[in-house]
Amino acid sequence: FLSGRTALVTGSTSGIGLAIARALGAAGARVAINGLGEAGQIEAAVSSVRSAGARDARYFEADLRQPGQIEQMMADINTWSPLDVLVNCAGVQHAVPLEDMPVDRWDMILAVNLSSAFHTMRLAMPGMAERGFGRVVNIASVHGLVASVNKAPYIASKFGIVGLSKAAALEYARAGDRKSGGVTVNCVCPGWVETALIEPQIEAHAAGDSREEGIRRMLAEKQPSQRTSMPEEIADAVLWLCRPQSHNLTGTSIPVDGGWTAQ
Ligand code: NAD
Repeated sequence: FLSGRTALVTGSTSGIGLAIARALGAAGARVAINGLGEAGQIEAAVSSVRSAGARDARYFEADLRQPGQIEQMMADINTWSPLDVLVNCAGVQHAVPLEDMPVDRWDMILAVNLSSAFHTMRLAMPGMAERGFGRVVNIASVHGLVASVNKAPYIASKFGIVGLSKAAALEYARAGDRKSGGVTVNCVCPGWVETALIEPQIEAHAAGDSREEGIRRMLAEKQPSQRTSMPEEIADAVLWLCRPQSHNLTGTSIPVDGGWTAQ
């Protein structure tokens, strides 16, 4: 259902973003890949998205801390093919108490997790509105809905992206129509997903015991299902939001969290 469409997934060189890029590719989209990584990792990501079925997949470099680099990336993608689907997935984490949080870390986390989405959205959404179709999916977190200790900038950035998404959903609510598919903006809010991002936290919870024990303790603390999610399962929620039938699904934040935020 995405054939003839073009998607950008930021932070798609690993983890959840890579799974989303593969899923969008499998649904027929042309996929722009972005994220940090060694040349080998980037090549592997591009070929993995191609082999998932993408009509075309290409890497677009941009350090998302730098608005100028985001602007250049968005211009390059637009020349390649105008964007129909934008998934802001790049994210960074640093878990220490508020008073020990390095000031430059605050700035960096806000820049990558929140401001980069503002920039990609402001540059992509006018074109979507003109063509009457657009899907913006921002990967927030349960931490965009509830807080935990020792993650102040991460939580501030994720609450911020939930708000940014609602504001944009309202501004673009009347773009397009049922036939063209409309322009929607939503967040997906995962609980624990098994990716590199949470390895330091698994290790901290393991406190010298096994990795499995670390995961078990993390889940016991917050996630009632006692099961982690896999990146492909988050990608599935993103895909559902991109369907034509989801044209009236906008301004929402959908938890995929095993009941975490139901408590
Ligand atoms: P990950 O570390 O595997 O992926 C993060 C991606 O962001 C990578 O591709 C990385 O290269 C990219 N990135 C980081 N800094 C960047 C920068 N300056 N410029 C460009 N790209 C940059 O982690 P993940 O778990 O796949 O995280 C993806 C998203 O999901 C994040 O926004 C994260 O907050 C969110 N999330 C993850 C979990 C989880 O449990 N793993 C839970 C909730 C939300």
